[in-house]
Amino acid sequence: MADLTFFHAAGVFDAVRPGLQAGAGLLVDDGRVAAVGPPDEVCPPGVTRVDLGEVYLVPGFVDAHTHVTIRPGEGDQHRQLVQPPAWQAVRGVDNLRRMLSCGVTTARIMTEEHGIDAHFKAAVATGEVAGPALRIAGRGLSPTGKHGSAAGGVDGPDAVRRAVRANADLGADHIKIFTTGGVSSTDSSLEESNYSAEEISAIVDAASELGLMVSAHAHGGAGVDLPAAAGVRSVEHGAMLTDSNITTMAEHGTWLVLTNTILFHPSGIEQGDAREPAILRKVHQARESARAVADQVRAAGIPIALGTDSMHGLFGYEMQWLTEHGWSTEDALRAGTVHGAELMGVTDVGALEPGRRADFVALRRDPLADITAVYDVAGVYRHGCQVVDRDGFTRPAPPTPTQHEEHR
Ligand SMILES: [Zn+2]
Repeated sequence: MADLTFFHAAGVFDAVRPGLQAGAGLLVDDGRVAAVGPPDEVCPPGVTRVDLGEVYLVPGFVDAHTHVTIRPGEGDQHRQLVQPPAWQAVRGVDNLRRMLSCGVTTARIMTEEHGIDAHFKAAVATGEVAGPALRIAGRGLSPTGKHGSAAGGVDGPDAVRRAVRANADLGADHIKIFTTGGVSSTDSSLEESNYSAEEISAIVDAASELGLMVSAHAHGGAGVDLPAAAGVRSVEHGAMLTDSNITTMAEHGTWLVLTNTILFHPSGIEQGDAREPAILRKVHQARESARAVADQVRAAGIPIALGTDSMHGLFGYEMQWLTEHGWSTEDALRAGTVHGAELMGVTDVGALEPGRRADFVALRRDPLADITAVYDVAGVYRHGCQVVDRDGFTRPAPPTPTQHEEHR
């Protein structure tokens, strides 16, 4: 019983059972959830009890699409990606801390250069720096001259296969490709596919031989239909989805990773690229379209996860956006937790059920009653250890001897 701790709270949302369990707390055994329930039912006598006061516990948030080294509000994201590694490392440490402070305990990194994401992943796992557990992509694949090809493009079926294998060799957990242009650059459209069907199939095949899933940065048109039909796991962003895109995604069970903070928040692309009228036009067009298709996406039952796309510290905005566009607070919380884990094929985070890691956030108000409670963080815990305190100070989690259990 030496490792058992009971965290006493006002209630728990475990992301598995519906609703809030009022009066429940969390029993943690050696960094993993042992039970959720009221103390008189689940807390054995003699167990260490931590009284957290009037707080509500939710699973640690899963940011399903972000980058360690980018800050969108500073503009020109491509240039930011290719700065010298030492500079990237210094900024990345602070960005990781901001992610953790807002409750993100797992983050899926969607392109870095210099292999720096593998180093950040190791630095967090060994307790060197404070941050969320990372899942990494290595270098993104994009054709020469197109959005996402910051440090050189990858063209043709043979080259894309080699690039997938090189990423796997560096420890990638998934493969990121770019099939359309981006809102934050002017170099290609949001709807055409920059990769051919043949190239996309080569990528998906090479990745699946290695047990890796593929995620496609894509906004709409053929750039969404081709990768969805080829069997990618997820479409990222999807701000310009058409009826055909939604049908194709629903047919193939393609996930949609929404990244609305960077698009809608005033400190996102709008701030970073304020001096580029062509980009601001794209922002307004993408916002209008994203709002217009929200109901259709929900009605089609497309599985959704959420990513800030480098808006470090603002993960709550992703969940708030959902509730402002027709989703319930409970749906928003699931999208930000257990669905993010499911997207990645990770089964030991994202929910507070027995056996999963005790990664959780203590909120000062009930987020099911009002989603803005997710901004009121009173503490963040990884593996049952406090990594963010009431004042927002962070510290690393103890080293993790085993990485996430996976079902790819
Ligand atoms: Zn991104």
